[in-house]
Amino acid sequence: MDYRTVLDKIYKAVQPYAGLGKNADYIPSLANVNPDKFGICIVTDKNQSFEVGDAEERFSLQSITKVFALAMCLSLKGEELWKRVGKEPSGTAFNSLVQLEVEHGLPRNPFINAGALVLTDIMLTSLDNPEEKFIGFVRELCGDDTICYNTDVARSERETAYLNAAIVNLLKYHRNIECDVERVLEFYFKMCSVEMNCRELATAFLAFANRNKEFSYAGFSLTSSQVKRMNAIMQTCGFYDEAGEFSYLVGLPGKSGVGGGIAAIYPGRYSVAVWSPRLNSKGNSIMGMKALELLTTETMESIF
Ligand code: GLN
Repeated sequence: MDYRTVLDKIYKAVQPYAGLGKNADYIPSLANVNPDKFGICIVTDKNQSFEVGDAEERFSLQSITKVFALAMCLSLKGEELWKRVGKEPSGTAFNSLVQLEVEHGLPRNPFINAGALVLTDIMLTSLDNPEEKFIGFVRELCGDDTICYNTDVARSERETAYLNAAIVNLLKYHRNIECDVERVLEFYFKMCSVEMNCRELATAFLAFANRNKEFSYAGFSLTSSQVKRMNAIMQTCGFYDEAGEFSYLVGLPGKSGVGGGIAAIYPGRYSVAVWSPRLNSKGNSIMGMKALELLTTETMESIF
């Protein structure tokens, strides 16, 4: 497949969508990012990479980091994990409180905020130095020791985190959080604040696309069956209440974040990361989704 030509074509084809949507502004430091950035990078199973646009500029991963947290928690807890968090699509916004009340503090899945806050609590109670372990794991996935937290972004999010604070308190009320709620929020925002560029993110996600290679990074290991199941959860829950739309338009497992990034996987073939900060009303990148739709349409490479 001539990915270089495909990406050049996509780059031109997404231009009419430039200017639609806006940055996440509920996190003050994300509101200040240049909204007109666009980058995309594909990394193949042979480790070849192809990129266009702002693919070398780092951005805030936000909810994409929930995939790394899930991998670590599955490695730590195995099937036990599902006693504390479900694996059903939510059909609600990533920061919704509605189901959590009705379902007595058991989050629908690990990729909505409530689920990721439970993962955060599990990591805090299971690991010494969880901050160090998390960043160590992510660095090994990327093969890059310079990946780090952006503590200014984490602090900026904490200052306006009324909704996430409500979610973690509701979880605590239902006894699905063991640690102090403030500590859970602190570590959760730190994980969200990790920055990568498109090439680094696609490289990190390649580990989830490599079907039969060993998954073992910084002491956290998954079986190929667990990796396969992580893909299933990305497919059904990776885009909150737009998971169906993403499946329909793109047809790849993936995960989005309100920093405007999306990472997706074609199992056994490639991983792809795209970044454009302007979001739609569901919190997903408009140009990013369009670019991935064009990628799978143009190449006819999707899981369907
Ligand atoms: N840090 C963000 C939040 O908790 C992550 C949300 C997202 O990327 N969808 O609101």
